[in-house]
Amino acid sequence: MSDVQSVVDAAERAYRSGLSRTPAERRGWLESMSHALDAERDELIAIARDETHLAAARLGGELTRTTFQLRFLGAEVVDGTHLEATIDHADPTWGMGPRPDIRSIRRPIGPVAVFGASNFPFAFSVAGGDTASALAAGCTVVHKAHPAHPRLARRTAAILIEALRSAGAPDGTFALLEGEDEGVQLVQHPLIKAVGFTGSTRGGRALFDLATSRPEPIPFFGELGSTNPVFVTRSAWQRRSQEIADGYLASVRLGRGQFCTKPGFIMVPAAVGAPQVIAHAAIDQPDEPGLLLSSRLRDSFEGALDALAATDGVETLLGGPSGDESAPLTLLRVDATTVLENPELLEQEAFGPASVIVEYRDMAELDQLSTLIGGQLTSTVQGEPDDDLGALLPALAERSGRVLWNAWPTGVTVSWAQQHGGPYPATTAAGTSVGAAAISRFQRAVAYQGLPPELLPLGLRDDNPLGIPQRIDGILTLPAKGDDGR
Ligand code: NAP
Repeated sequence: MSDVQSVVDAAERAYRSGLSRTPAERRGWLESMSHALDAERDELIAIARDETHLAAARLGGELTRTTFQLRFLGAEVVDGTHLEATIDHADPTWGMGPRPDIRSIRRPIGPVAVFGASNFPFAFSVAGGDTASALAAGCTVVHKAHPAHPRLARRTAAILIEALRSAGAPDGTFALLEGEDEGVQLVQHPLIKAVGFTGSTRGGRALFDLATSRPEPIPFFGELGSTNPVFVTRSAWQRRSQEIADGYLASVRLGRGQFCTKPGFIMVPAAVGAPQVIAHAAIDQPDEPGLLLSSRLRDSFEGALDALAATDGVETLLGGPSGDESAPLTLLRVDATTVLENPELLEQEAFGPASVIVEYRDMAELDQLSTLIGGQLTSTVQGEPDDDLGALLPALAERSGRVLWNAWPTGVTVSWAQQHGGPYPATTAAGTSVGAAAISRFQRAVAYQGLPPELLPLGLRDDNPLGIPQRIDGILTLPAKGDDGR
């Protein structure tokens, strides 16, 4: 029996056994994972430093976020909002004819395959958001290790498996696999019911095609690339040029530009010297020390810089390909007319410390740019309260998962309202991989019609023994809060 077969069989058994466990037990599993990772913090950060070139402070922050996320989603399991429990009592006077008693609730979909990204060895990796949200949904997880940090993946997985065991979770609730072929077999395995993926558009697209061409197609939640455009109004630039230049550069440089939310394009007013102001600010502030994560990412970063610079009218103001992992800050400049004639430029993600400054003449050009951007994780407006933004905000909302005002897109908080997703190519399916709503990707709703109370799932009973929010005959009804505020 292959590794993939035995691991998925165990994940399936654990999934079935987990179905009868209580929300409080499941919360305990997530909390146990969180505490176990916190307890091994120093060792984990040391391995991650060794394998990724990322600074200890950055890795520490990422691990804190990861363990917070496990506890946050554990609390969600008990809160029960994600179950969307809905009760429509029988109603003989219902407008379209008598209504039967019908009730719906969301349930887990089964074992889930998870692929993490190289640039987030904790937060979007073995113990990251996809793993945490799939476990919170009631699924089991088989994680395919990223080859950029194999030792960290193995050590993190060992800690998680032990934490789950000691908290009483069924064996097989979480497992790790390694190898590209194993990843492919995992996506194709009939017992795998969904895939969570964070990584490149190329890799994500290849695995998406596999997942959707199986005899039984399955949902593929791919969080891919994004160019995260920033739109600066003329009055914002007039009033705050230095602050905007500094904030933009800090966001582009953060983590050597290896963030999926890095601003890849900034649209600034023409004829006010904006590219020069930004370039001077860049020279005044030194680059963060450090190297790109891997030679593979270096190759694709430099390929993207070459592709951008190959278009007539695109000028390199600073930096350019360095031929090694030191990757200095690269700033390119182009006018909006050239971009409007070559809109494919806006889709070119350069995953590293680089960004393109686009000079627009008037609001009409800015509006046109906003309708040419593809699906984005984020779009940002740097504006002033008295700006007439025309159709800019609706255009950005149509194309982006998160729209920011006078802020910078790097930094994605874990909370209830967070939306880390967006139309393709930002993601392959609607949904978010960060925040409370990430859980619902790994569930589906079932409606029960006419069942007697004793046969209903606990969350759908009139006496509400789980104490969860229920929408009863159209009205959202919250449970009385207990001592712990829930
Ligand atoms: P990657 O090269 O796509 O790798 C991701 C995972 O997929 C790895 O485990 C990789 O394993 C596997 N994989 C890729 N192609 C495959 C194929 N054809 N067949 C089977 N397995 C395959 O991604 P990365 O380089 O780590 O990440 C960088 C990219 O991720 C950037 O573009 C960035 O924007 C994006 N990203 C997005 C987010 C987000 O939330 N949207 C967050 C972080 C990063 P193997 O190498 O073993 O094949």
